[in-house]
Amino acid sequence: MSVTASTRVLALLGDPVEHSMSPVIQNAAFAEAGVDGVYVTVRCAGEDLAGFMKGLCRAGGGGNITLPHKEKAAAFVDVASPAVRRTGACNTFWGGADGSVHGDNTDVDGFRGALRAFVEGSPRGLRALLLGAGGAARAALMGLLEEGADEVLIYNRTQERARAVARRIGGSNARVVHLLEDVRGEGFDLVVNATRVGLAGGDPSPFDFALLERVGGAMDLVYGSEPTPFIVSADQMGIRATDGGEMLVQQGAASFERWWEMPAPIATMRAALGRGPEG
Ligand code: NAP
Repeated sequence: MSVTASTRVLALLGDPVEHSMSPVIQNAAFAEAGVDGVYVTVRCAGEDLAGFMKGLCRAGGGGNITLPHKEKAAAFVDVASPAVRRTGACNTFWGGADGSVHGDNTDVDGFRGALRAFVEGSPRGLRALLLGAGGAARAALMGLLEEGADEVLIYNRTQERARAVARRIGGSNARVVHLLEDVRGEGFDLVVNATRVGLAGGDPSPFDFALLERVGGAMDLVYGSEPTPFIVSADQMGIRATDGGEMLVQQGAASFERWWEMPAPIATMRAALGRGPEG
């Protein structure tokens, strides 16, 4: 379908956005579904976020929010989903009939889908170590708890941010780790990297798996065309690991469904990312 004067514009707002595979995935999905939309990226500063969100919504469009703006974006949503209210983060927005800004956090559903695809059996009862406390970590924490995780320990470079996330989302099942040394020798069913470490070329691994006595599996939310540093270091220890590709597809499919109110062509989206069935 060609772009015309009536084509709906969906934009990914963030900084950086150059790494994102969302345009490839979404434009493939739009073509497959035959909807009249185009998906673009807009590198956007925090002070410009509200203007872009409101303007796109008034024009009948919408989009996604990526780092570092997901928490800021939640404040500009007029009609917030339960996931936005619980996480305080928004990654998907669209305009209502009156031009109001509707927002959801489909990272939660995306993470839950990727978790279920990765964990052998049910995630119920698992003990997880979560690295990070930004927008992605909030979604991962809510996802872990909703999937029945027993205990989630959160470690973040900035401790206060981890405490705020644990207080807001975690209840009695989450607690903050002040130093990684505090978990030396412990065992976890799952270690999740929700920091941005690994996104830039030359980044080190955000975690040394040798610290732990046992790790059941490792999930990175970062993705790229090459294995991420977190995945490489898990592989070196013989730990089963997956990157953020499946979560990207699943959160993208959920966003598609919010914008177009029809099922997303998820197989096409996976193929556009160059992945086979489920990751
Ligand atoms: P964000 O809100 O900006 O948070 C960034 C997080 O990374 C914070 O916890 C931050 O810690 C930590 N961090 C940054 N630099 C660090 C460093 N040098 N050492 C240790 N920690 C560091 O970003 P976000 O939206 O949560 O996104 C995080 C990552 O998840 C990004 O790479 C993003 O691409 C990925 N993601 C993937 C998907 C997917 O579908 N696969 C979805 C969402 C996000 P401080 O609090 O100390 O700054």
